[in-house]
Amino acid sequence: MIFNIVLILMTMLFGTGCEYGKLTEEELSNLRKDMVNTQIIRRGITDKNVIKALRKVKRHEFVPTYLHDMAYGDNPLPIGHSQTISQPYIVAIMTELLIISESDRILEVGTGSGYQAAILGELAKEVYSVELLKPLADASSQLLKKLGYKNVHVKCGDGFKGWKDHAPFDKIIVTCAPKEIPPELLNQLKEGGLLVIPVGDFFQKLKLVKKEKGKIIKKDIFSVRFVPMIKGKESK
Ligand code: SAH
Repeated sequence: MIFNIVLILMTMLFGTGCEYGKLTEEELSNLRKDMVNTQIIRRGITDKNVIKALRKVKRHEFVPTYLHDMAYGDNPLPIGHSQTISQPYIVAIMTELLIISESDRILEVGTGSGYQAAILGELAKEVYSVELLKPLADASSQLLKKLGYKNVHVKCGDGFKGWKDHAPFDKIIVTCAPKEIPPELLNQLKEGGLLVIPVGDFFQKLKLVKKEKGKIIKKDIFSVRFVPMIKGKESK
């Protein structure tokens, strides 16, 4: 939040820089390599496929043009509509926790920029991503199509209800924070499936949830700070 305000103030003071395309693709690619080495590998992410996906997906394509130069920084960035694209390390660890296999069908709640969905699209068979805000759902859906992600499907809807038509899912990832784990998401999780979700109000815990023999087993990973999961009209 404070970071967003500072960024907006800087933009107002110095303009957007009008330095669109200031960095070349090669320079951005070098920044991406550095990001993976210093923020991802050095902090203990070991899943080779997750590392490969973070090396490949161009995070700068998922942020507004005036932020391209900051796309590989160690922080979340604003994507409009008071929402943010998560910090790269958080994307990496949430993806690693899901132990994704090529045959997995995954539900994401909170498409936002579409970056996390693209990372999932690199690793899984099908990704179904639900976004509450129509402008973000439309923009990310178009971008993911343009980038060729045929296995990533975005719909505008209320994530509290999951995506029933494609349930049950092998894995579920939630990138906004509800106060409690939405029961419908647990219903839509397969037996043996994994759910990674930030839970709480101002103070949130990232939780890894497993459905095992019908039982729900929860494990706290660490404290996080996500935008809130907003109740859609029908789930209030
Ligand atoms: N995964 C995103 C991060 C987006 S931030 C990325 O990689 O960019 C969280 C997103 O959750 C926001 O876009 C917000 O609009 C969305 N959101 C909030 N409440 C929601 C709900 N009930 N259902 C679906 N999406 C929701």
